[in-house]
Amino acid sequence: MRVEAVRGMTDILPEEALLWQYVEAEIREAFALYGYREIRTPIVERAELFARGVGEATDIVHKEMYVFPDKKGQMLALRPEATASVVRAYLEHGLHARGGVAKLYYLGPMFRYEKPQKGRKRQFHQYGVEAIGSLDPALDAEVIDLAWYIMERLGLRREGLFLRLNSIGCPEDRPRYRETLREYFLPHREKLCSDCKRRLEENPLRILDCKVPSCREVAEDAPRSLDHLCPGCRAHFERLLGYLDALGLSYELDPKLVRGLDYYTRTVFELASRDLGAQDALLGGGRYDGLAEALGGPPTPGVGFAGGMERLILVLGDREPPDRCFRLITGPTVYILPVGEGEVTEALRVLARLRRAGIPADMDYAGRSLRKRLQVASQLGVRYALFLGEEELSRSAAKVRDLSTGQEEYVPFGELVPYLQGKSRR
Ligand code: AMP
Repeated sequence: MRVEAVRGMTDILPEEALLWQYVEAEIREAFALYGYREIRTPIVERAELFARGVGEATDIVHKEMYVFPDKKGQMLALRPEATASVVRAYLEHGLHARGGVAKLYYLGPMFRYEKPQKGRKRQFHQYGVEAIGSLDPALDAEVIDLAWYIMERLGLRREGLFLRLNSIGCPEDRPRYRETLREYFLPHREKLCSDCKRRLEENPLRILDCKVPSCREVAEDAPRSLDHLCPGCRAHFERLLGYLDALGLSYELDPKLVRGLDYYTRTVFELASRDLGAQDALLGGGRYDGLAEALGGPPTPGVGFAGGMERLILVLGDREPPDRCFRLITGPTVYILPVGEGEVTEALRVLARLRRAGIPADMDYAGRSLRKRLQVASQLGVRYALFLGEEELSRSAAKVRDLSTGQEEYVPFGELVPYLQGKSRR
């Protein structure tokens, strides 16, 4: 039996990878413009990091995390998200000591054992930012503005997108709100799914974003966190709304938005697409003012978001990346044709020289006839065929045929690079 890829873990084939490269480059540039610098954390972390950071009772940790012991029995995990890793690295390397706000970004694969479907994979890729070290609601506004800017840069229409926004308050508000929710849901316990029955005990906030229809129905009239904020959290949220209005960024207040990770405090948001169906969230984020402490660090506020690359690629649809992206990937412009085995060494030398000069060049390795090789070259869209035979070797020159005109001329080996570069400038 043939070995196949693991369910939910997909190959990104060359054609599609081109679009990925383009999208990643745009995202990196947007992040850099907003002052974020890249951080690369390991894919494997101690499982404890996510249990403490994301939360033991969350679906992500409780049900979806890939956990395994290493040879010494230490429990490790494939990272299901990157915020906990970034904050761990921030604490571990004392980035907080450098003062101000640390603005960090990442791009990379994440792993969750979920039911694979459109826009939901077991290995998927996230791009995200973390701004660590400030409570200022202006920073929340900046992070949301950055999320919108990425969509704009990629040419997605604002009308096709919308931002869900909510505030879930601080750790002081949370127990009171949890209790209010528990009191509300308790009489409806029998209508809740088995997961939500558990959530009723562990974290009734999570019932609000359950997708099971009977739970949704009950949640419809549930008390709103916005009505249970302390004065500090209320003022923070109102200032954020003021900044968003000033920036002309639209939002919809969504009292059911609580997000699946325990570390969120105050602001939570999702940028969603109207074209994506059930899995419509392009990115999600918010504040996590208690995360650093949960990981054993000093109290350090933070705000950020993470977006799914797969979903972004889906909404971009069949869009072709712009021409400049094809620069390195159009295939060879030069094809070398050694006539016999005796010319292969020289062909390899010429190839190496052209490539080092930035000229995409290739040759046939399938042992095909000269006629067949020329056919392959024109299928590849090659512009110049370079023939190397005994005659050419004795003249230390290659016979260069311009495949678009059929014109041929001998060019000494030493002049090939300037000759071909000169041609490409014309
Ligand atoms: P989260 O880390 O759950 O807040 O998710 C942030 C974003 O990552 C979502 O809005 C999605 O775009 C993307 N995402 C999360 N889980 C998956 C998954 N299993 N497959 C593909 N994309 C995902």
